[in-house]
Amino acid sequence: MMTGQEYIESLRKRKIKVYLKGKQIPAQELVDHPFIRGHVASAALTYDLAHDPVYENLMTTTSHLTGKKINRFTHIHQNVDDLLKKVKMLRMISQKTGTCYQRCVGFDAMNATYATTYEIDQKHGTQYHDRFKKFLEYIQKTDFMVSGAMTDPKGDRSLRPSQQADPDLFVHVVKKTDEGIVIRGAKAHATGMVNSHEMLIMPTISMKPEDAEYAVCCALPTDAPGVLHIFGRQTNDDRKMEGEIDQGNAKYGIVGGECLTVLNDVFVPWERVFMCGETEFAGMLVNRFASYHRQNYGGCKSGVSDIVIGATAAIADMGGYSKASHVKSKLNEMIHLTETLYACSIACSAEGYQLPCGSCFVNPLLANVGKHNVTRYIYEIDRIAQDLAGGFIATLPSESDLRDPEIGQYVTKYFQGVKGVATEDRLRVARLIENMTGGTALVESMHGAGSPQAQEVMYSKLANLENKKKMALRIAGVKVD
Ligand code: SF4
Ligand code: FE
Repeated sequence: MMTGQEYIESLRKRKIKVYLKGKQIPAQELVDHPFIRGHVASAALTYDLAHDPVYENLMTTTSHLTGKKINRFTHIHQNVDDLLKKVKMLRMISQKTGTCYQRCVGFDAMNATYATTYEIDQKHGTQYHDRFKKFLEYIQKTDFMVSGAMTDPKGDRSLRPSQQADPDLFVHVVKKTDEGIVIRGAKAHATGMVNSHEMLIMPTISMKPEDAEYAVCCALPTDAPGVLHIFGRQTNDDRKMEGEIDQGNAKYGIVGGECLTVLNDVFVPWERVFMCGETEFAGMLVNRFASYHRQNYGGCKSGVSDIVIGATAAIADMGGYSKASHVKSKLNEMIHLTETLYACSIACSAEGYQLPCGSCFVNPLLANVGKHNVTRYIYEIDRIAQDLAGGFIATLPSESDLRDPEIGQYVTKYFQGVKGVATEDRLRVARLIENMTGGTALVESMHGAGSPQAQEVMYSKLANLENKKKMALRIAGVKVD
């Protein structure tokens, strides 16, 4: 298993092409760029914590393929205990970063692909599962970070992949040879992509037979020839070029450092192709990935909310109003919402079950309901945080003003709170609340792991409304079949 430092050094060896604000960033400098380094730092923690005896039980496990000790982020869940440990691990890491550490996407993509390739082979007599196992063994051995790449740009949402005016709006196979396939298209919102070693490409929706060239799942290095990444902008990102205070989160980035990954006729050898044309399995892969990823959100977001609650309580202490009864009651409401999120993730894990390949899957109904709660409760938690923190989180002068030899004294004097608390500390906490409750961070809670409508579609199907009707009619004394 790599350490955080080894992970960072290994990223420097890539020839990755990343564009940021109109410029290509030299590959070796990428991990030190102010826009990127916070995301690298939080991902690096998933490596360092695996070597910490305190967290070993959550962070590491035994590979079912090789019997060797591995980082949990490269594991295939074998049982309910694995699923529960995943959620607990995510909450624990979020409590240390206050933000996303990106490595779950590839983790979930690998679990979904592992299970789905087994079932494709059962039906079609293909060799995808064995191929995937070899790829997985490579990832477990190298401890590489894999970015899960699912979301296509999608163009006109009313049209299927094969109906789009521009055929590249969904990733598709443009050529097949004896050696492999050539793919073209792009993947959007790719979390942690620019600081990953590999990407695992998956289809983004269920497909019909006419979409065959779009039903493709494969793995390739993030610096493969023909691949380029355009890094996304975030709220207040230019502040990262300045001091630490105005960033809010002193060390780690905001959410996952997403990008648009462009695939310009990229060659993928057959040993790394795990689906190619089996359209009837695209939906299964999407749903499994989505459920595994939605399982996470009550884990990582409850940990992030722990920080928001702590920062809100601290800012109330620093302002001298933490004893007011409405403050206590609002903090309790934040706790209630946070633990409700966590409960859903624990519940969907506790109700996990074995798939035909032998790995363990979450209860998809509860996983989807849990993520749907995130799209509402995080807004409510953050709303209360902003309510209690006060308007100064939006009107504070900059760190440069605080440090200025002439006017710094006014910032220090007029932003002081209770005696004994340094103004700078109060400003740091205020900026953390600003960072965690607004802009990019909030939108991620809405759309990360899929938009609310995507969850509604899944839980409405899984809830079996017809059965509920029958149960009610029976109790009412109405005769039913
Ligand atoms: Fe993991 Fe949460 Fe980040 Fe998704 S948002 S990658 S689940 S930490
Ligand atoms: Fe996400």
